[in-house]
Amino acid sequence: MPETPVFHSLPTVPDHPALEKEILAWWEERRIFDQLRERNRGGPTFSFMDGPITANNPAAVHHGHGRTLKDVFQRYKALQGYDERYQNGFDSQGLWVEVEVEKELGLGSKREIEEYGLAAFARKCRDRVAYFSEVMTEQCRRLGQWMDWDNDYYTFSDTNIEYIWGFLATVNERGWLYKGHRSTQWCPRCGTSLSQHEQAGEENYVEMEHPSLFVSFPLRGREGEALVVWTTTPWTLPANVAAAVKPGADYGLTADGRWVAVARFPDETFARVVKGDELVGLEYDGPFDELPAQDGVGHRVIPWDEVSLDEGTGIVHIAPGAGAEDFDLSKVYDLPVLAPIDESGRMLPAYGAFAGMTTTEVAEPVIAELDARGILVGEGTILHRYPICWRCKTPLVFRVVDDWFISADEIRQPMLDANDTVAWTPPQYKKRMDDWLRNMGDWNISRKRYFGLPLPFYPCECGHLTVIGSRRELEERAVSGLEQLEELHRPWIDAVRIACEACDREVERIPEVGDAWLDAGIVHFSTLGWRNPEWIEHGYATGASAGISGADLPDHAYWEKWYPADWVSEMREQIRLWFYSQCFMAVTLTGVSPYRSVLTYEKVFDERGRAMHKSTGNAIDLDEALDRMGADVMRWLFCSQTPSEPLKFGYELADDVKRRFLTFWNSVKFLVEYANIEGFRPSWAALNLEGDLAPLDRWLLERTHAFVHDAEAAYDAFDTVSVMRGYEAYADDLSNWYIRRSRPRFWQTGGDPAAFHALWYALVQTLRVTAPILPFVADHLWRMLVLDGPESVHLAGWPEVEEPDRALLDEIGEVRRVVALAHQARASAGLSLRQPLRRLVVEGAASVSAHAAEIAAETNVKEVEFGAVDAELRVKPNLPVLGPRLGKELRAVQQALQTGAFDDLGGGRFRAAGHDLGPDEVLVERLGRDGAAVASADGTTVELDTALDDELVLEGRVRELIRKVNAMRKEQGLALTDRIVLTVPAVDEPLLRWEQRIKDEVLAVEIRVDGDVALSISKA
Ligand SMILES: [Zn+2]
Ligand SMILES: [Zn+2]
Repeated sequence: MPETPVFHSLPTVPDHPALEKEILAWWEERRIFDQLRERNRGGPTFSFMDGPITANNPAAVHHGHGRTLKDVFQRYKALQGYDERYQNGFDSQGLWVEVEVEKELGLGSKREIEEYGLAAFARKCRDRVAYFSEVMTEQCRRLGQWMDWDNDYYTFSDTNIEYIWGFLATVNERGWLYKGHRSTQWCPRCGTSLSQHEQAGEENYVEMEHPSLFVSFPLRGREGEALVVWTTTPWTLPANVAAAVKPGADYGLTADGRWVAVARFPDETFARVVKGDELVGLEYDGPFDELPAQDGVGHRVIPWDEVSLDEGTGIVHIAPGAGAEDFDLSKVYDLPVLAPIDESGRMLPAYGAFAGMTTTEVAEPVIAELDARGILVGEGTILHRYPICWRCKTPLVFRVVDDWFISADEIRQPMLDANDTVAWTPPQYKKRMDDWLRNMGDWNISRKRYFGLPLPFYPCECGHLTVIGSRRELEERAVSGLEQLEELHRPWIDAVRIACEACDREVERIPEVGDAWLDAGIVHFSTLGWRNPEWIEHGYATGASAGISGADLPDHAYWEKWYPADWVSEMREQIRLWFYSQCFMAVTLTGVSPYRSVLTYEKVFDERGRAMHKSTGNAIDLDEALDRMGADVMRWLFCSQTPSEPLKFGYELADDVKRRFLTFWNSVKFLVEYANIEGFRPSWAALNLEGDLAPLDRWLLERTHAFVHDAEAAYDAFDTVSVMRGYEAYADDLSNWYIRRSRPRFWQTGGDPAAFHALWYALVQTLRVTAPILPFVADHLWRMLVLDGPESVHLAGWPEVEEPDRALLDEIGEVRRVVALAHQARASAGLSLRQPLRRLVVEGAASVSAHAAEIAAETNVKEVEFGAVDAELRVKPNLPVLGPRLGKELRAVQQALQTGAFDDLGGGRFRAAGHDLGPDEVLVERLGRDGAAVASADGTTVELDTALDDELVLEGRVRELIRKVNAMRKEQGLALTDRIVLTVPAVDEPLLRWEQRIKDEVLAVEIRVDGDVALSISKA
């Protein structure tokens, strides 16, 4: 052994978190990421646009998943020499942030925010974002994500806001912007309307129990007759103005004078039955006509085709101020709109004794009142799916309010066309995007909140709406308030008054802020300097983000270079959120999709497939997971699961990954240990396999090339699952074929330099392929194995290799299948692999005949023959498959198979009773003659001669002895090179016929025989 070993030795198992921390410090010290960017500067571009993460709380495990994928493909492209931007984004304003700050400050309502003060509230929001963006950055670094962390974009920057203003001005010029007065889903806690795209997720619905009431509305001029309606929202009854019937449906009058739909009460006997049309126009007494709100309101029956005959009574109570469809009907039938609740969901003063109560609180008094008035026909409860606020989980109500909308009519088709140019992974999500675009309503962009994009709308009493498109325009039009404008947020922006474009009157901004998806949707323009004439240093990090980020505002040429993005990647739910908003804005401004390809993925669940929740106790903290399992293990877990299915995550799965990783780790360890013994010293310049190679080395070369090629194709298709599958198969081939077959070449005296070199080549190339997914351990092993090459695997580039010889690989694949069959036959006979056998016959795999010696060695037989196997063939129908196909004919086929009246068509196919049967339609069994074990699969059959003679038994005992001694060497902690003296009991003396072989394989200098003592070894 040389004085100083060439390689550091490896522990039995890696301590992932410890080695990762070392690598992180070393990356920092050697500025590896900076070197990488420098190396690729000016190369071809790979443009990735980061979807901003809300900097609101620490990152969770599912963020770790998304960030891993982003990092993997950026690292892969960097290995291939692509120049990249690496700009990370933080979403930093809107409800997400506001609600957390409200909790932090103990504020419970909008009134309390206003009392606290909007300026102080805005500062708290910014501080929270500044704090958590730092926390998240640390977490992402720990995960191994390489980004330009000093130049993140923050969507609350003034520059970002200005770009949205520009977009809104464009939308206004096109005539798409309008103020709508409509019924909208409303969160009473947040005090704002919410839009279709925010609320559409499955998670925004919960099962809730509500009252179920049957109420009668006495008809006027029809003594003793009343309509019966059904409702689950008692709070809407005081705002009732109409009752709707289905015009063509039958309605019956019961003996006690109640009108209901006949279809709903089939067992009832009716005194009269009429069509719904005949009830239309009738007037009735409302349930709460005495309330001031109901003053002057007449109640009548209206027709409505959408009345359901699946629930209720078939007569629907209509309150246009408290329901979306009700509101639409009010337009058609000119019904009064009574709005019963204020923005915090409390009944308004015009509702008498109910005033001030919430929609929930008011239920009981309403029911009591109906009962007292004798119009409560029935009362119960109902369990149904009910929408809750996506942000704060409060049950939603409907309110009629003014909101600002962007019409989707004209942009819909261009967006569909743009989506047609996008490559989606998995491909089925493209259709989901199309579905969303076909069904999207107008974009509700206004929120009645505080810390968000200030909508630059200045309506004037002259009827003109001024929409400010930039800060400069604001400054030009401003008549007061500019001097106090610290940043483009409330309250400062509210104090700026401008002159109306049309009449010069002084006008003020509407109080609303914008939908947060405007903030994230504009970043393809705001961060890349669209239409910006000159590059401005730190020009993006303005307003609230000044001092937090250093991001520049590039110039228009830069935008042209990087737009559209080659790739974006987010969770599937972003189809209706970020993918939608960025597509909407980009198609509006440029007519083309802002991204060329998308990778999208499902949610992360626990290892049993349940949603992770803090309340159920199965949530896993990202930091803890990074500390306990390590980042590489986490990344492996994420990358090995199909993105279109829910991902499983947990510590048991992590342990499994750690175990699987050992196959490769042990291969490196094997090389390192024997290389240190033999003094093998590889050189980077010789990273190739050339010349006359031993057959096994040739195979390893081709196998490595195939691995590199397949991984490249998978990475190019954004398919990490195939990369990992290929890697595991390759690691298995390397360890369980190449190394096992080559072992003696490593430990025989002097070693075989060609074997060392081939193995080193394979290990080094593997590190380059796996570096994007396992960046830490790849670099850890790289630094150990590569002595004079690039200092980091991430600086080594992607391996360029030749087309693999697939024919050779298939041939060896076949050899491995024959060996596996032989092992299976041996196991069925209960014989250990250490027991040599005489003969193996192989039928049906002629292409491997050149490898008889290898097969003999691998299967521990003296002789391999190729030819027919003498075995009885038994074929049975695979009933679950064949039954449905053959029906009555099955019997005849079954009988033919049973009596042996069938033809073997080869390749696992048979013909019986006139039917051709495929390999999956039959179960094939081959029974060996006595003294033979048979195994068969896919047209290949092997027969193992299981007869033992004294000679074979003795040799089996020799192999068993060698195994025992080597196990003892390990137990006693001997070094691989230590020589021993072996003492065997007299009973083992006959084994010494193989004395030299035993000595060679256990490194014994002497073998002693000593009566009936136990087997023992001692260091020589
Ligand atoms: Zn809410
Ligand atoms: Zn005006």
